[in-house]
Amino acid sequence: SVYGDYIKSVIRTVRDWPNPGVNFRDITPLLQNSAAFRKLIDSFVHRYQELNIDAIAAIDARGFIIGAPLAYEMGCSFVPVRKKGKLPFKTISETYKLEYGEATVELNSDAFKKGDRIVVVDDLIATGGTMLAAAKLIERTGGEVVETAAIIDLPELGGSRHIREAGHNVFAVCS
Ligand code: 5GP
Repeated sequence: SVYGDYIKSVIRTVRDWPNPGVNFRDITPLLQNSAAFRKLIDSFVHRYQELNIDAIAAIDARGFIIGAPLAYEMGCSFVPVRKKGKLPFKTISETYKLEYGEATVELNSDAFKKGDRIVVVDDLIATGGTMLAAAKLIERTGGEVVETAAIIDLPELGGSRHIREAGHNVFAVCS
């Protein structure tokens, strides 16, 4: 992306968080910088606004921060993909493996109709497990995953490669 280097420059790396040896990519400086946040949202808007997108599916919780302004600006639906136990209505769920243990994401069973064109957004792709679980949920509803999108890809963890091997497009503003 044209703003990739700029966006990368306003992301903070926090060493040894939440565990020793982990470098956490902290997007809060990017969110505090109104010019950077605007450029970030605009780069997603420009990429998707002509593609007849019906909905932005955003992943709990940092995906919501970019998914909501994106859906608002594009004039399409906003749909949350939530962590287990948060949605009060009828849901479908996908469980996936983490480094230690597992996690579950849920989607309202009435969120999409067959043929809906959907972009899935999150802040970051690491192993790709979260994004892939969200894509699976969407496909179970009959929706079409046009692209999976993130602010940051960590290519050395193989997540984006894994998502592409599963047949999805992957876009990240920076790596
Ligand atoms: P994955 O499922 O690809 O292994 O992990 C991606 C998920 O974990 C995303 O929902 C993301 O919010 C979160 N995540 C993992 N590592 C980081 C990180 O370093 N920075 C941020 N901002 N999120 C992370």
